[in-house]
Amino acid sequence: MALIVQKYGGTSVGSIEKIKGVAKKVIDYHCQGNQMVIVLSAMAGQTDGLIKLAREMTEAPNPRELDVLMATGEQVSVALFAMAVKSMGYDARSLLGFQAAIYTDHLFGKARIHEVKTERIMKELEKGRIVTVAGFQGLDDHGDITTLGRGGSDTTAVALAAALKADVCEIFTDVDGVYTTDPDICPKARKMEAISYDEMLEMASLGAKVLEIRSVEFAKKYNVPIHVRSTFAKERGTMVIAETKDMERVMVSGIAYRKNEARVTIKKVPDRPGTASRIFEPVLKAGIVVDMIVQNMSEDGFTDMTFTVPRADFYKTMKLVSDVAQEIEAEKVLGDENIAKVSIIGVGMRSHAGVAQKMFEVLAKENINIIMISTSEIKVSCVIEEKYTELAVRALHEAFGLDDDQKRDQ
Ligand code: ASP
Ligand code: MG
Repeated sequence: MALIVQKYGGTSVGSIEKIKGVAKKVIDYHCQGNQMVIVLSAMAGQTDGLIKLAREMTEAPNPRELDVLMATGEQVSVALFAMAVKSMGYDARSLLGFQAAIYTDHLFGKARIHEVKTERIMKELEKGRIVTVAGFQGLDDHGDITTLGRGGSDTTAVALAAALKADVCEIFTDVDGVYTTDPDICPKARKMEAISYDEMLEMASLGAKVLEIRSVEFAKKYNVPIHVRSTFAKERGTMVIAETKDMERVMVSGIAYRKNEARVTIKKVPDRPGTASRIFEPVLKAGIVVDMIVQNMSEDGFTDMTFTVPRADFYKTMKLVSDVAQEIEAEKVLGDENIAKVSIIGVGMRSHAGVAQKMFEVLAKENINIIMISTSEIKVSCVIEEKYTELAVRALHEAFGLDDDQKRDQ
């Protein structure tokens, strides 16, 4: 007998028929002798609908009340699911975040789980019930309802799996696993059998959106293996797990990209202590997320500085930086709105030399100019002109042996 935590996303519970389908599936697992804890998202589109309602009421909804409102989406799905299971002749209990004793900090809208007390869930399981828990919500120590941030049901599932010491945490969604790259732009993308937590964090933060990032951080911290798979197919999906020796044999395991970036360059910045801090302070204060930063070696006491921001923040950043540039007497500020970031990711980079060089060669062969480069232990990223994104991703995917029709080992 296994204790299994399963999470079903909004599309998987998007209609009465689909909820009945999930109930049947869960009952099958239950009948095989497993103890089942089912975390649900709100039905597809519901959370967006609730946020819209709040905005119709007031431009800036009170964060506490917004959480009370948003948490109702998941309340609907767990209640309907428990009804479905009961109508099929099996026992089920729905629990909201506070009933499942999921405790968080006070940050409405992006609360972090700090403790889960498992007594209630265990008691329900011991009675032979299927337990369903509302995802995305918790309770702070003032007794207020909190939500965990968009997509937060994944984190609920992983946190419950960790606290309950579940045998497996399965995340059922509308895609059948994690792919080597975005199948929409690269038809030869391949479903991965397994990916390490660190690789998944890089893939996710770079724009491959299968699992919410925080849930992966949580899983890594508590070493919870996650199985990401499709609600609508029988095949196995992708395991997100701690690094194995096997993973290191492969040089690159995935290609990620992010469009909608913009570049800002400040020319001839006087090279003296404090300028970088002066430049970035107003940008960060405005809540703008700066990604890559490059500063040149200085020549004659001047240096150039380049960094990237989300495209939506481009104009605001240009304005802020132009003001500082004048103050610190830099020469001028230049910008480019049409860039993208393409990255190769793999824990294998630690043990293979020349990975970055190979990436540069591939891009050169396609005549794609590299605008910026950054590297980390398991990733190399290049900023390129946006219009070459698809070409770059496909060329890299092939060159690193990831295409579906290529052999696995490089
Ligand atoms: N319903 C929430 C959202 O749409 C949480 C989730 O789906 O995981 O963000
Ligand atoms: Mg969701």
